Amino acid sequence: MRVSYSSGYYAPIPETHIFPMRKFEGLRDYLLSQKIVTEESIIEPSLCPFEDLELVHTPRYSRGVWTGSLSQKEIRRLGLPWSRGLGIRSRLAVQGTINAAKMALEDGISGNLAGGTHHAMPSHGEGFCVYNDVSIAALKIRQLGLANKILIIDCDVHQGNGTAAILGDHPDVYTFSMHGERNYPFIKPPSTLDIPLADGTKDQSYLRELELALSKITSEFTPELVFYLAGIDPLETDHFGRLALTLNGLKSREEMVIRWAGEQNIPLVLLLSGGYAPTVKDTVLAHSIVFERATVLAARFY
Ligand SMILES: [Zn+2]
Repeated sequence: MRVSYSSGYYAPIPETHIFPMRKFEGLRDYLLSQKIVTEESIIEPSLCPFEDLELVHTPRYSRGVWTGSLSQKEIRRLGLPWSRGLGIRSRLAVQGTINAAKMALEDGISGNLAGGTHHAMPSHGEGFCVYNDVSIAALKIRQLGLANKILIIDCDVHQGNGTAAILGDHPDVYTFSMHGERNYPFIKPPSTLDIPLADGTKDQSYLRELELALSKITSEFTPELVFYLAGIDPLETDHFGRLALTLNGLKSREEMVIRWAGEQNIPLVLLLSGGYAPTVKDTVLAHSIVFERATVLAARFY
């Protein structure tokens, strides 16, 4: 399976910061060590051009991240300290998602060892999300005429407010978010389909809700490309999650989504999104599950 990754995905932040910036290289190393990816299947993205960022973001904001001209208030809202590296990282990760979408359309399945930054809004970033990579990639793929109908499956525990604000009423993009009802963001613009979950939701009811949602989507929409935001923050051990998934439940979730897309032969893009497990190592292991399951199951479908 081809995946996007760059050593530039790391941007310098204090090692005590809650955001596990080391997870990107950690995941690359782990997937290589487990032979889930090879050096040859890791495709390095270039910097996403501003004109593509501006499919979604205002020129003032998209360039402000690059030049460091955001206000202190904007940086606080983003939750990550500004650096030149953050500007580089953000543009690389968006291009990584665009490239992964193209690779999925060619190969059936692909991934970006980053991305899924679903809280980013057109004119500001928030919740550790600088640019809305999935919205940009969806619009870019449509602009290129590579796919028309696009589905976004967002299983990060936090609602995809940025994606919903940008694409929630787009006629050819279906946005689905399954998230903690009482969790951030506290204002949740409507996705095409939102499934809010109660605090403490466990494996069985989580998986049942997902299964029901996927069959509802099947009856309403025929996607030509799927972006899957496989956030691992529904885990019970997560710092921010408030839900109670076990690692086994997470594994079943990843299998359910991969099977659902695979059985219909819809190209599938795997993205990280959030995850704040107790250690970076735990975070990496949890993120690796979707890639491991994909390599095992994809051969059957794609
Ligand atoms: Zn999250």
